[in-house]
Parts: sequence; C-alpha cells; structure tokens
Amino acid sequence: MSERESNTENKTCPACFNKIDRRATKCPYCQSYQGVRRVAAFVAAIGGVLLLLTLILGAFFMEFGALRQLFHDDTNYADQVTIQSSKMFLGPTPAYEPEDGKVISVVGRLTNDSPRVLSFIRMRIEVKDGEDQLVDSFEGTISGPLNPSDSTTFRVDSHNRVHLPESDYRTHIINVRQATAGS
Ligand SMILES: [Zn+2]
Repeated sequence: MSERESNTENKTCPACFNKIDRRATKCPYCQSYQGVRRVAAFVAAIGGVLLLLTLILGAFFMEFGALRQLFHDDTNYADQVTIQSSKMFLGPTPAYEPEDGKVISVVGRLTNDSPRVLSFIRMRIEVKDGEDQLVDSFEGTISGPLNPSDSTTFRVDSHNRVHLPESDYRTHIINVRQATAGS
C-alpha cells in the first residue's frame, strides 16, 4: 500500500455512514464535522443548550420570586403609612384603677397610603419635655386588615406610669416602624 493510497483511504462518516476521505474535517454529504472538530461542535452545542437552560431557569425563578412577592409580601410599607392626627393625654387605662396612677395615651388617625392591604402596623412613640428631652417611649401595634387609602383610628398606651410632673409630658412624635401586608 503506497503513501498516496493510505492518504486517500476512505472512512465512514459517523453521522450519515457515507464513505468519505479519512482526512475530511467536514462530511461532504451531511456537513457533519469530523474528528476533533466533531467533538468541538458537540461541546459548542452542549454549551448552547446549557446557556438556554440557564436563561429559562433564570426567567422562571425571577417570575417565581415575583409570584412569591404577590402571595407573601414581607415588604415594609412603614414610610407609606401617614399619621393624619394624634393627641396625647394622661389618664388611667382599663388595666389600672384610677388611684393606681396614670399612663400616657396617644390617640390618633392614620391612613394606609401603600398599595397593599396592611395586616400589621407597629409604631413607636417618643414623649419629650419642654427642653426636648425624652421622658418616655413606648410601642403600639395595630392589626388589620386596613385597605389601601383607608384610614383607621388608633390608641396606644404607655407601659410606664406617669411619674414626672404632668407638664413635663409636653410633646410627642410618632414613628411608624413596621407596616406589613403579611399573607
Ligand atoms: Zn456524513
């Protein structure tokens, strides 16, 4: 067998089974890459499939996150709760007999300016004296449901009895800390 003959020896294309030149890098019948190029083409195809899968799964999980957000929204809408009015007074609470002393109570009205039905609102109230010094602080919660753009009244009582001259309980500020839609 001469060198020329061995070089022109045929092989079978693994894709279409036609006899082709063994040196061919691409089958003339079916255009399949041969040898190392066949492996490279296969790897490229697998890479393409993996990329496509990644994109599909990524899109699915992004959408899934959006769905989860829809059904279980733990966003804090505190900055979208507006205190419309509030008033502080010192007096007995149902928990105390009048002779047991007084507590600070704050009553007011707030509005849900968020796009969701709020099920839980937590606010912190700070009471200050004439020198703007903090004399008491306490938290209160409101349970919903409170529809978007609806208002509700609230009342929050301090836990501490009034122990300073009543004139020291001068001003109060209300910070809404938490407002959640829940699920
Ligand atoms: Zn072929």
